[in-house]
Amino acid sequence: MTKSQAFAAHSASSPLSPFTLERRDPGPEDIQIDIQYCGVCHSDLHTARNEWGSTVYPCVPGHEIVGKVTAVGANVKKFKVGDTAAVGCMVDSCRQCASCQQGLENYCDNFILTYNSPDKHLGGVTLGGYAQSIVVDQHFVFRVPENLPLPAVAPLLCAGITTYSPLRHWKVGPGQKVGVVGLGGLGHMGVKLAHALGAHVVLFTTSPGKAEDGKRLGADEVVISRDAEAMAKQGGFDFILDTVSAKHDINPYLNMLKRDGTVVLVGAPNEPLPTAAFGLIFKRRQFAGSLIGGVPETQEMLDFCGKHGITADVEVIPIQQINEAYERMLKSDVKYRFVIDMASLKSR
Ligand code: NAP
Ligand code: ZN
Ligand code: ZN
Repeated sequence: MTKSQAFAAHSASSPLSPFTLERRDPGPEDIQIDIQYCGVCHSDLHTARNEWGSTVYPCVPGHEIVGKVTAVGANVKKFKVGDTAAVGCMVDSCRQCASCQQGLENYCDNFILTYNSPDKHLGGVTLGGYAQSIVVDQHFVFRVPENLPLPAVAPLLCAGITTYSPLRHWKVGPGQKVGVVGLGGLGHMGVKLAHALGAHVVLFTTSPGKAEDGKRLGADEVVISRDAEAMAKQGGFDFILDTVSAKHDINPYLNMLKRDGTVVLVGAPNEPLPTAAFGLIFKRRQFAGSLIGGVPETQEMLDFCGKHGITADVEVIPIQQINEAYERMLKSDVKYRFVIDMASLKSR
């Protein structure tokens, strides 16, 4: 076992603080990675503060991981020591169920998330990427396109795939009118990716100060969602991706869909979002959800981003600023993803 410096939450109400964890020695299928950067997802905050009610402490969040390979097991062929590698939201799954067989490990009933899932190797729960190192089965380790700057790649591992997967599943493309709700980590990737896929993109934001950025990131139109008059004028959408992290009214978006259009929820507020029957039954509209993405699609997304030169807009922080970053995230003040420079762990 190897000791690794990390930051952990020790209760729902305490700030994250320095913590030492242990990683397993790499087995035949494992890759050991020295973490260089880890993105900060709103799910990290929901989990650290037990907002979904299932957090086991101490909790080390972080599932947008990029770094250098420091050791590989005997059966690992696709990576060697010194390679750049990435890890996202999952570190294992059953490998046998229909979803796993179809490369949809993200819908496996027994998948193991990167943090706060049962750890079959060491007991307790898995501990995530706010750490010096991690050991992961090679099936869940990804190649990073060489042309992309590493800190800005990290958020692709969650924010990128979580928005790419539904855009692809619902076949978003040229000639379609697509809405993205919320310009945070997921939302800004949604705007970039929907634009790259050729759709006409409309950003819905509560923050008037983000309108200009929205256009720079790829939105054709920006609507301030607190402006009732502007909202009432909207309609004719094929698809709307809702990335909002807090309770909000979903019904205005359902009502903007054209016949057979779909609102897909990727945001995960801890409170129900009531829907009015009439918003759905008129025009046969659909209200759906989507969870991250499978292993093959995650690599496809990384390659797509490499080809199109797409990365996240990031604010790189030392890990000692993680608690301030969480507070800013709660105020929707993220431009547009915090990424931790893990070298800062050494200077604690
Ligand atoms: P984030 O960076 O904090 O962005 C969320 C954005 O939502 C904010 O920037 C803000 O955008 C908007 N917003 C916040 N509070 C709002 C409110 N009360 N009403 C309306 N809009 C509000 O969060 P994130 O990392 O993108 O994550 C977003 C959500 O997705 C979280 O709940 C997270 O847990 C979830 N998530 C789900 C998956 C999945 O697989 N489905 C994966 C990752 C994350 P504006 O300022 O533009 O309004
Ligand atoms: Zn995430
Ligand atoms: Zn499975």
